Amino acid sequence: MKRRNFIKNASLTGIGLAVTPTLTNCAEKEPSKNEKTVVTPKASLPLVIATWNVPNATAKAWEVLEANGSLLDALEQGCMIEEADVKNQSVGKGGRPDRDGNVTLDACIMNTKGDCGAVVAMENITHAISVARKVMEETPHVMLAGEGAENFAVSSGMKRENLLTEASKKEWEEWLVKAAYKPIINIENHDTIGMLAMDENGDLSGACTTSGLAYKMSGRVGDSPIIGSGLFVDNQVGAAVATGMGEEVVKTVGSFLVVELMRQGKSPQEACEEAIKRIVDKPNSNHENFQVAYIAVNKNGETGSYSIHKGFSMTTYQNDKNENVQSDYYVK
Ligand code: ASP
Repeated sequence: MKRRNFIKNASLTGIGLAVTPTLTNCAEKEPSKNEKTVVTPKASLPLVIATWNVPNATAKAWEVLEANGSLLDALEQGCMIEEADVKNQSVGKGGRPDRDGNVTLDACIMNTKGDCGAVVAMENITHAISVARKVMEETPHVMLAGEGAENFAVSSGMKRENLLTEASKKEWEEWLVKAAYKPIINIENHDTIGMLAMDENGDLSGACTTSGLAYKMSGRVGDSPIIGSGLFVDNQVGAAVATGMGEEVVKTVGSFLVVELMRQGKSPQEACEEAIKRIVDKPNSNHENFQVAYIAVNKNGETGSYSIHKGFSMTTYQNDKNENVQSDYYVK
């Protein structure tokens, strides 16, 4: 009899989910005649994936899940690692400022039930992802902007900090000499952190946090805090998150598109590729000049990633392995 594994909670969806390549390393158990599903061994779940080379962040999220912490705690604490890292100049403290010298942060989070929270253009608070979570859990709203978001964070006990480090200030001052706005295609192999996690029950959630594009206009908001663009999670289908030129992701409602394509039967890899193609194929596309990348996971625990240009990578923590792998890309 052909061996089959099934994801632990396949019955939740009402269908048996055939095992995918990402789950084939699991120890197998021969199903007995009456047994409809086989419990997926612990080795394959939980699963954490993230945009770019962020092994410390995925390790943190994994650690939380391994200790039976919640998906949201895992995602929040994983993202906080990058937000606090001043060497990562595209997320949190140390982020590159807008053209007026102000560091403004965008973040969002989405849970298994489809609830979400976001902050946009928020200053002076390092952990934007924590504020986004609080917006979701403690307010009647889904998004707070600017001063309102900052004041809400402070009233929730977070402290104001100067997010502009000397290094980012110096770069900005150098940039001011020419003041030419030309976002860089891949920044130092780490950029916006988008993170998706699946717990041992096969439930999914996601998070995304960024300081946005360096030297953007004051008030500019990209895709990262926009549910459906920078992030989308449907716990029945899968989840996706984006990085890169936010304007292009917003125009194609990218992460929602990836999830809907998975709903229609595409694998995460196929869905990411199709969503990138939508951007590239637009009549006025000048994709030579910008990067966009997606990562995705479906309910089977299969993952995928794709970008317009070479240089994008995804970090995956699964089966006790924390790996960063270069993604395939469109422009060869
Ligand atoms: N997507 C982010 C934005 O447009 C930036 C990035 O991922 O590089 O704000």
